[in-house]
Amino acid sequence: MKRITPEQISGTNRHMIYMYIYRGRNNVPQQKIGYELKMSRPTVTNHLSAMEEEGLISRSTWDNQESGEWGRKPLVWSVEAECKIALGVEILKHAVKIAAVNLYGEVMKYSRFLTEYENTEDYYESVCSVVREFIKSLGLEARILGIGFALQGLVSEDGKEIIYGEILKCTGLKIDVFTRRLDYPCRFVHEPDGAALSELWVSPELKDAIYLSMSEHLGGALISGRKILNGQHRHSATFEHITACRNGELCYCGKKGCFETVCSKVALLRGEEPDEFFARVREGEAEASGRWQNFLKYLGKLIAHLHLVVDTKYILGGHLAPYFTEEDIAVLYEYGRKFTPFSEGEDYIQLSKMPSHNITVGAALPYIMSFLENVGRNSAQ
Ligand SMILES: [Zn+2]
Repeated sequence: MKRITPEQISGTNRHMIYMYIYRGRNNVPQQKIGYELKMSRPTVTNHLSAMEEEGLISRSTWDNQESGEWGRKPLVWSVEAECKIALGVEILKHAVKIAAVNLYGEVMKYSRFLTEYENTEDYYESVCSVVREFIKSLGLEARILGIGFALQGLVSEDGKEIIYGEILKCTGLKIDVFTRRLDYPCRFVHEPDGAALSELWVSPELKDAIYLSMSEHLGGALISGRKILNGQHRHSATFEHITACRNGELCYCGKKGCFETVCSKVALLRGEEPDEFFARVREGEAEASGRWQNFLKYLGKLIAHLHLVVDTKYILGGHLAPYFTEEDIAVLYEYGRKFTPFSEGEDYIQLSKMPSHNITVGAALPYIMSFLENVGRNSAQ
């Protein structure tokens, strides 16, 4: 059996103290930390001082007189939310989005610019120069943990290569097109995984689910035990390539009639702006309503069939999610009953809690998560 060293115990204690304050976020009384974590006063004091020196936390005195004991103002601690930050960059066919997030996953700064994707050195240079400007404007260069690049492609386990990127025609792309130009750790993130990570971040109670990302293209993520399962060949949850209709339209994957060709934003809107399209749907205009009902039919069929394989929650996310009404969800349940022998209650389809910036933020989150998992562990003596 491996023995646990005093340094490891000390590191675990420091980590626990940090996370206790992190969860309380602001004005966490010092007295409560020792009491709740069952640690001695000197232990707590030492770790707090060390973390304060590192800039991880800051102290103040609680001003609320009622909370003080015997008239003394207790010492309280808060996490320095911007002590470390991460960047998420979403690469789309016609645009790039950038977000900086703090340790609570909150967006500190967001920017979007239009540019046509090209798998060329010039393109990567121009994106990196915008990222460098963005970082400069934050003035927090030394605090950046890393930059996640989300794009529409399957990503290798180590996040360093696009192993399937037919939408952007970038299969085989290596992360070094960014790391050569940016002085920070970088990794790729499969777009729906980024969206699912954001969902997990804002839903602490969420354990298992299938996340359907309905942005430009259809995508999915399989969440099990709060982890995203990518599978042996990294293509778990690529429902978009299940056949929806034989001899349907040509999918970017080269096959015909995939769900991508009937259940994605590009297939639904055909170049129209979503606000305009859904205004027409809600006004009952026949052509738009017909197109939307057709979309719901295929989505209902897809969820019904997936529900036979994985009996779990289905989360509808992506750019189209905010446009769904309760009636639309009821239509999906109706198809669930039609296509399967089970008539469960209407309790397994829900809308994403985070419909905007979810992919850009999700691309940054792996760095924040990894920091929070390890904070304090290696710095304690
Ligand atoms: Zn396909």
